[in-house]
Amino acid sequence: MSCPLCHSSNLKELEILPLADLASVYQSLCGHDIRDQYQQDVKMLGCNECGLIHFDPLIAGNEAFYNALQHKPWYYSDDKEEFHFGRKWITNQDDVLEIGSGKGAFAKGLNCKSYTGLDFSQKAVDMAAAQGITIRRETVQEHARSHAGKYSFACSFQVMEHVTEVREVIQAQLDCLRSGGKLLIAVPSEDSYLKKAFNLVLNLPPHHMSRWPDQSFHFIAQSFGVKLLELHHMPLAAMHYHDYAFNLLMESFRKRWNIPYRSLDRSLKAQSARIFSLVGAKLLRHGFFSTNKPVGHTVIAVFEKP
Ligand SMILES: [Zn+2]
Repeated sequence: MSCPLCHSSNLKELEILPLADLASVYQSLCGHDIRDQYQQDVKMLGCNECGLIHFDPLIAGNEAFYNALQHKPWYYSDDKEEFHFGRKWITNQDDVLEIGSGKGAFAKGLNCKSYTGLDFSQKAVDMAAAQGITIRRETVQEHARSHAGKYSFACSFQVMEHVTEVREVIQAQLDCLRSGGKLLIAVPSEDSYLKKAFNLVLNLPPHHMSRWPDQSFHFIAQSFGVKLLELHHMPLAAMHYHDYAFNLLMESFRKRWNIPYRSLDRSLKAQSARIFSLVGAKLLRHGFFSTNKPVGHTVIAVFEKP
């Protein structure tokens, strides 16, 4: 096993996720049995070189998995807060490439010279075409072969954490850029409340294949020879007030009741803490967050190609 970002095998084992637990929580979330792809316990590994956290085995969710997930109401979001941040970096002179674009929600209202999205879903391609948005059904590695140096801005929003070939995808995006072009990566931040979230199965495989601490972005700058222009933590979004308050309380109970943190914890102690934390979070979420916003779910890095 080697790190998908730096290819180093200097890895440390952080946790073992029992397959039975992982399968069970996905089953209750979306009715899908991940054992069609996974046959063994899953290791969570941290890279000692670049800081990226990934999983072994590294198998991204298949079509049946995503078909089950996309029926959840929160799955498709048309207006992500990080889109507003991304649009501020783009001018009417930019040729924009977006990977994992979905149906092109980011392209809407974007004032740029040209826009090209890449996505695997034929449904997304068709929906975008109906609105005059160009989405191509190919990998960025394939796209880079015929589009080297054709873009001034490459971006992805909540995509890199689903990717297994992390280094190759970043390299292909950089290959698509001209000199002076920008690369924007928006992902869930591991340097946030997500790090110790309680039974947050969507931050685990096969949905998320990697976790991103700030250290990994500094590594990218150094390793790919690009300049890190900005590393921005989005403030906590209103839709996450409850999760944040809940996980803050869970952490307090863990400390008080000596419950070691585990990504999936089905113990009686943790379940009791969960009930108290849910009640507390209902009160807390109406509290101080509107004026005192903690670091939120998402981090955005913007790089410049020399
Ligand atoms: Zn690494």
